[in-house]
Amino acid sequence: MLRTLHAAGDLAGKRVILRCDLNVPIKNGVITDDGRIRASIPTIRKLVDLGAKVILCSHLGRPEGEPILEFSLAPVALRLEELLGQPVVFANDTVGPQAKAAAKLLEDGGVALLENLRFSKDETSKDPKERERFAMKLADLGEILVSDGFGVVHRKQASVFELAKIIPSYAGGLIESELEVLNKLTHDPVRPYTVVLGGSKVSDKLGVLGHLLPKVDRLVIGGGMVFTVLAALGHKVGKSLLESDQIATVKIFLEQAAALGVEVILPTDILVASSFAPDAEFEVVAFDKIESTSFGESGIGLDIGPESAKSFAAAVSSSKTVFWNGPMGVFEFANFAGGTRAVAHALSNLDGLGVVGGGDSAAAVRLLGFDESKFGHISTGGGASLEFLEGKHLPGLEVLND
Ligand code: ADP
Ligand code: MG
Repeated sequence: MLRTLHAAGDLAGKRVILRCDLNVPIKNGVITDDGRIRASIPTIRKLVDLGAKVILCSHLGRPEGEPILEFSLAPVALRLEELLGQPVVFANDTVGPQAKAAAKLLEDGGVALLENLRFSKDETSKDPKERERFAMKLADLGEILVSDGFGVVHRKQASVFELAKIIPSYAGGLIESELEVLNKLTHDPVRPYTVVLGGSKVSDKLGVLGHLLPKVDRLVIGGGMVFTVLAALGHKVGKSLLESDQIATVKIFLEQAAALGVEVILPTDILVASSFAPDAEFEVVAFDKIESTSFGESGIGLDIGPESAKSFAAAVSSSKTVFWNGPMGVFEFANFAGGTRAVAHALSNLDGLGVVGGGDSAAAVRLLGFDESKFGHISTGGGASLEFLEGKHLPGLEVLND
């Protein structure tokens, strides 16, 4: 059983470390999508209302252990202040003198944010001793841990895993609500159950295919990862995203899918661009041609084509349960957002449970102007939700179990 906040007892006056996932996209100091910050607000508010001294911590991007300004959480502190309507003390270090002073001086109901956890390489170290060393320093700052960064519960990282073993630890409200929805997907989903996969983290996502196959009725594949699948089917994909070392694995998945009767839906056309740029010239390439000429040596597939967008949308619309992770194309470029828009549109009108998972997928939904409330659920975790759906044990959750 997951230990939740209800079991934490009286929190008034307690110094509570709240591990959130405030890993938002920032360009030139400006937050381009604050979804994860907003998702963190209810738990922060709850702790404030209970009179706790709230010490927030999170990672942002991959600074690889270096204090790089570009990855500072300072802009997040400002946005938090706006959303909470109360001051947020920002500490310029994570476990150093500023963090200690901030933690010590907080009043009941006050909120402080520590600098990026990943400015210390120990946070994500593969060596448990290094992670523990960092977790001990974090533990000095607070009396209990509330773990609410759902996006990182699949990782063994100091603030998520080791820290939870050192001080009393509980799951926050965001984790609880994420699990409530994801449990609906794993326990007897209403069928047809369709999983739509895309995005760019090819090897991460190809890995989950094998685990998902026995659970789903349909698998729809687009985005950057589709080119490895197409290559496995013998297509030449030009300069598109491709992981050659995964081709053999993908072939096995495709055979398994056929044996299990899972319908695999792939694009039948692709928008092939001359370069990776917003204003790149492009053409619609139908599939039968791909092998011969149209991708050429240098063509880059940046989105699924209009025919595929239609068939993908139809696959979504005719399902009762859908989990979607990973944009269908480079939606950041308006010319290559069509596939993502079509899937998002179908999902937002679904007569059933439609779940979006993944930082970029969630950002795409908002960027393309969809009404968030029209989706069954927008998860803050990409990798974490996929691993949960695969039935894997997530270390950051296990450690919160009694
Ligand atoms: P999520 O965060 O939702 O899990 P990912 O991080 O895996 O998704 O992938 C998101 C990224 O995938 C986006 O930045 C998008 O531009 C990129 N992407 C989608 N399709 C392609 C493609 N065909 N080629 C290159 N990148 C792509
Ligand atoms: Mg992403």
